[in-house]
Amino acid sequence: MIRILHLHPIPFTMDSMSPDDLITLLDSPTETDRAAIKKAYAFALKAHERQMRRSGDPYFVHVFETAKTLAKLKMDIPTIIAGFLHDSIEDGVATEEEIKKEFGDEVLFLVNGVTKLGKVKYQGAERYVESLRKFLVATARDIRVLIIKLADRLHNMRTLEFLPKEKQKRIALETLEVYAPLAYRLSIRLLSRELEDLSFKYVYPTEFKKFSEIVKVKEEETLPKLEKFIKSVKKELAEHGILNFKIDYRQKGIYSTYKKWKNHEEDIGQIYDVLATRIYVSSLEDCYKTLGIIHANWRPLPGRIKDYIASPKPNGYKSLHTTVFTGDGSVIEVQIRTPEMHEVAEYGAASHENYKKFGSQKVLNYASNWFDQFLPKISDFSQEKTSATKWVHDIAKSQENMNTIMEKSSFIEDLKSDFFNERIFVLTPKGDVVDLPVGATALDFAFAIHSKLGEHTNGAKINNKMVSLDKILKNGDIAEILTRENSKPSAKWLELVKTNMAKRHITNYLEKQKKKRI
Ligand code: MN
Repeated sequence: MIRILHLHPIPFTMDSMSPDDLITLLDSPTETDRAAIKKAYAFALKAHERQMRRSGDPYFVHVFETAKTLAKLKMDIPTIIAGFLHDSIEDGVATEEEIKKEFGDEVLFLVNGVTKLGKVKYQGAERYVESLRKFLVATARDIRVLIIKLADRLHNMRTLEFLPKEKQKRIALETLEVYAPLAYRLSIRLLSRELEDLSFKYVYPTEFKKFSEIVKVKEEETLPKLEKFIKSVKKELAEHGILNFKIDYRQKGIYSTYKKWKNHEEDIGQIYDVLATRIYVSSLEDCYKTLGIIHANWRPLPGRIKDYIASPKPNGYKSLHTTVFTGDGSVIEVQIRTPEMHEVAEYGAASHENYKKFGSQKVLNYASNWFDQFLPKISDFSQEKTSATKWVHDIAKSQENMNTIMEKSSFIEDLKSDFFNERIFVLTPKGDVVDLPVGATALDFAFAIHSKLGEHTNGAKINNKMVSLDKILKNGDIAEILTRENSKPSAKWLELVKTNMAKRHITNYLEKQKKKRI
């Protein structure tokens, strides 16, 4: 048999991929920053030398694009470097030692984090979605790992057409249900919008087609009126002494339009913000002043005025929204904000505002708040059990710093609802995530998957090693249950489990057997 090696015969053109293209995206990089980026660039080029993507591009294109997205998000230098290196161990020829030696512990930590996240796969089982999202946040340990993963996924989605059909569907579904919502909850609209639309196309092709058309028609309809409106707004603002402002507009994403349509009794007439005017002003005061000027000149639609400055959205989004009649038969949404508010809206957890102020660990804690559970002790989540009191203490401490970004009431809510939820996340060999209380054993895991699996458990493997059934699981373990037809629960099993669910199953089983015997 002849083996065809996919070597690239001629050097591909690197014109569009010079390290300088990426460096120009950075805010005032130092000489050291430039040198570090160039070094990572060269390292990645070598680590993936002669390796190809399915698209026929050199593999390097993928890591370059990932790093570039991170630069656009204004991430710090170690994160951008890790973007270059994120596949260099798994798919390339680099080793941990090399990365550590050349780039240090921090970069290695980030690269390893991304690799670990890669092990998780969403198979489309609804009941695992939430625990998978939680798992990602808990495992990432550092918000930057998650953001690298999102940037990596963005490029994979952009090149999804080159994968086989079934793979396209799985990856797109995972993106739509896990990664895009994650980007959204981290408030990185810049990523979530594109991730949503790219995956929407593969997951719901018919709806995608329909809504692409709707968005296009709406846009063509609205644009001339919007441009006229913007002109008048500029004039009014200038006349009323708002001197420092900028106006543009944004187009709503296709998936986002579809979701809104679903939520509005499927009435497309109700959606006024396919195109929305955005006004950026220099101060909070000017935001309200501008709103006043708009309302004095154009009649607002009742019930459409939203003050997200006074009450920000749970993900930190701030802006004033209103919808007005333009006077020529159309209705236009107006969003008013400062550049700082805009940065938070687009970059979210990755924004300078949050990131610089709180450091990555704090932002991760903050981010995890948007999940139904406040994940306690993310920093040493995989270590042993954290006592509830210690955790409360830690939260109280971090609360001091987080007051500015979190409402006190929501802090208390989180505390109440999750006080006793000390959870770990364990993976099936297929990559599904099961969440269990701390202290759960291999046998608990079996019953958590399915009672029938539990009842026939004969052995267990954790991370590919045989273990006893009462082996206590750790966060991130991959557990596999071995079964035998004639294996069945005994009274002794009650000592091997921790969860009430498993205990109840075992007790029920034993009682049924007893009755049968009688
Ligand atoms: Mn990758």
